[in-house]
Amino acid sequence: MRLILFKRKPGKLENEILSLIDEAARLIKQSKYVVAFTGAGMSVDSGLPLYNHWNNFDPHILDINYFRQNPAEVWQEFKKSFLTIYPQAKPNRAHLLLKEMQDQRLIRGIISVNIDDLHQKAGSTNVHNVCGQINGSVCQNCAHKFNIQEISFEHLPPTCSECGGILKPDILFWGDLVPDPEYKLGMKEANRAKLMIIIGTSGTIMPAGVIPMFAKYRRHVSIIEINIQPTVYTSQITDIFIPLPAAEALSLLKQHLLEG
Ligand SMILES: [Zn+2]
Repeated sequence: MRLILFKRKPGKLENEILSLIDEAARLIKQSKYVVAFTGAGMSVDSGLPLYNHWNNFDPHILDINYFRQNPAEVWQEFKKSFLTIYPQAKPNRAHLLLKEMQDQRLIRGIISVNIDDLHQKAGSTNVHNVCGQINGSVCQNCAHKFNIQEISFEHLPPTCSECGGILKPDILFWGDLVPDPEYKLGMKEANRAKLMIIIGTSGTIMPAGVIPMFAKYRRHVSIIEINIQPTVYTSQITDIFIPLPAAEALSLLKQHLLEG
């Protein structure tokens, strides 16, 4: 694994980064099926909080046991804290660059731990939000799923039009089961990958954080990691570590891929 030392002079650092980008671009071109695994670092420029900071809104709103006992209060808080921020967010340059790479079939699928649907808003396809999506809700009784725009918030908690059961935001709460079928589909995509590009995620969100580990240890895929700082992945599974913000790294990668 190659790791850049930040203490070096800028000129040398730039050259080292360019050589890593070159190496990564070569690997991407050679690989038959490249999958991106993205996290909060991707959406920071869209003004969205990092996953770990969600609980700053209110410590208990994302706990499944608390939800079961207080669904109306959780929905109230969820509406105030999440639905006022996420639906307005727009994809940033990093999402658009990834979409362009997908158009050129350099990247085939995207697995994201983000609950925003910014990859989809950017026009990407074959996206698997393995921690759920902000615009979804799921019936706790019959598992029927509804888009948030389809449901009435007149009385909280909102209920299922099929069976009357209580609806829950379709995102992963603490202590919750993984969203189905999104998680399964994400694992399937990881299974197809020959190369995985980790972008803007530190791997601390469980169980989704283990997906790149699974890809490396079970499928022997090569791993390119784009993160501003080393993470739990870096020393364990990463082959090429690019210490840059998502948009900057993807822009350089795209440039090298087009030139080559
Ligand atoms: Zn139902």
